[in-house]
Amino acid sequence: MSFSSSLLEQAVNEFSKLPGIGKKTALRLVLHLIKQPQEETQLFADTIARMRREIKFCSKCCNVSDTEICNICSNFSRKKQIICVVENIRDVIAIESTQQFNGLYHVLGGVISPLDGVGPDQLTIEPLINRLTEDEVEELIFALSPNIQGDTTLFYISKKIKDLPVKITTIARGIAFGGELEYADELTLARSLQNRQPVANYVSMK
Ligand SMILES: [Zn+2]
Repeated sequence: MSFSSSLLEQAVNEFSKLPGIGKKTALRLVLHLIKQPQEETQLFADTIARMRREIKFCSKCCNVSDTEICNICSNFSRKKQIICVVENIRDVIAIESTQQFNGLYHVLGGVISPLDGVGPDQLTIEPLINRLTEDEVEELIFALSPNIQGDTTLFYISKKIKDLPVKITTIARGIAFGGELEYADELTLARSLQNRQPVANYVSMK
């Protein structure tokens, strides 16, 4: 791609560093910004710079926060004895959107993946274990992706805390809602059978 302006080229290069943004999309976004009033583009740039400068990570659960302790951890109506362990901040947002969970979270910052060079030390496993002993946690719900890395992380943490009086559970794994049984792979189908549920959990029997 050749540019008649080095400023334009620089901006396109910066945008194309974003995940999922190729050079063509970057160019489209930059050209869009050029057409906007200067104040609009300034506000856009300021918002991003301020977000990056001022955003904090909750010192308890490692979720993003505007304050030292996030608004989930500091909410007295939430059950502090139950912690849902997730991989990243997107997972917190997804589970919060269900409005079905009233405990606290712990954001690991990834999962153990030796091939990608991610070991337990790069994750917030130690702070999680400290929370378990300090906050009288009764249950840890693992809501990690059902894959090798997620399972490795689940087993690693479970082993580390096996002597603590904490119940360890994992979210159900199985056939997706709206999925077709015959297209499910064997592992998913097998897990769905293992994790079968009483029908009364799903439908009211009147
Ligand atoms: Zn928090």
